Amino acid sequence: MANQATRTYIATIRNHCQVYDSLDSLGFAASKLWNVARWTVDRIWKETGYIPDHSELSAYLKNHERYADLNAQSSQRVIQELAEAFRGWYSKRQNGDEMANPPGYRKRGDEHPRSTITFKEDGFKHDSEHNRVRLSKGRNLKDHWSDFILCEYDTDPDATVENVQQVRAVWNDQRGEWELHLVCRVEFEGIDSPGDRTAGIDIGISNTAAVSYGDEAVLYPGGALKEDEYYFAKERAKCDDTTSNEARRLDHKWSSRRTHFLHTLSKTIVEESERRGVGTIAVGDLTGIRENGSGETKDWGSKGNQSLHRWAFDRFVTMLEYKAEEHGIIVETVNERNTSKTCACCEHKDSNQRVERGLYICDECGTVANADVNGAENIRRKLEDTQVPPSPDDEDRSTGWMAQPAVHLFDRESGRFTPREQVVNCKP
Ligand SMILES: [Zn+2]
Repeated sequence: MANQATRTYIATIRNHCQVYDSLDSLGFAASKLWNVARWTVDRIWKETGYIPDHSELSAYLKNHERYADLNAQSSQRVIQELAEAFRGWYSKRQNGDEMANPPGYRKRGDEHPRSTITFKEDGFKHDSEHNRVRLSKGRNLKDHWSDFILCEYDTDPDATVENVQQVRAVWNDQRGEWELHLVCRVEFEGIDSPGDRTAGIDIGISNTAAVSYGDEAVLYPGGALKEDEYYFAKERAKCDDTTSNEARRLDHKWSSRRTHFLHTLSKTIVEESERRGVGTIAVGDLTGIRENGSGETKDWGSKGNQSLHRWAFDRFVTMLEYKAEEHGIIVETVNERNTSKTCACCEHKDSNQRVERGLYICDECGTVANADVNGAENIRRKLEDTQVPPSPDDEDRSTGWMAQPAVHLFDRESGRFTPREQVVNCKP
């Protein structure tokens, strides 16, 4: 039986330099319209004592000058968002949340921030053959030489972008550029699960991913990402102006290389899992990033790096989810709590456990394991334990695989992960 779902692919804009001025003007226009609508709500509210809903507000505003800055459907969406925000606030209030504030104005000092712009069916034209999308401007912003914005985009090389229902232009503050969210309708046949085994993934910095299958483990070091971080930070420092085209070009290149790395990694893990009869993949939910300063904290580096890693993690899990789904594999996030402190062999918990040169050493049973593999195995067991109770007589199961995981490195030449011995070129 065919199932239907929507899936959102995030795409970077290849010709960003050519389109960002136009996208900026739409993004600012959306904020202005929001503010006009916000102000209108206030007025009606004061006069009548009640908050107008979406259709009343649209009827009020559709002849307003600001309404024609965007495509009519895009303007409608802005007003709908505001109405939804008011509804959300109102129901919070009714549920006794006295602290909830009504939606505010979109201001950034004296300037307008860049709001997300949504394009519905008559607001865009998608060209799937050339990975291009035409986004329409409102009447006011059209000029003699163009009445639409033509974006060329890059997205997941494995994704089939068709049946696009909606396009959103979203300002990515982290990367300082616009990106496109392509909302597609997908149909897929019910796919049989490859098996009933469970894999666990521990996400980290030195190893981007450590994967445990319960009897073997694979590490995917993040060396290629680190080299890029170093290289691009250095090149970027040479730019006099951080908003120059050269700086933008570098940022763009860096982010597409990072994206490519994450795509390749998620694809590889899904393929490896399928081959091993894995039906469920458990991913740690990154308490380490969220709970900075607590005992669980991993070394995620400076604040700026943290949000970068947070972003990369979210992207990675999304990629993993939809790639896994196509192979009948379910991805579940599990709480990472204690997964780095607990011995995966004897379940002994020790806050002061020793990690020496990346090894986890258990004082209780003497197990020596790669620390990330130990974490991944604990994450795996958190999910497996809920399905299959652990055997109490499991004491003599071999743990050698935990001490010596396979290491697969990202090879730039082939764009793939290969076992360490085979990598010839790992320079950026
Ligand atoms: Zn132990």
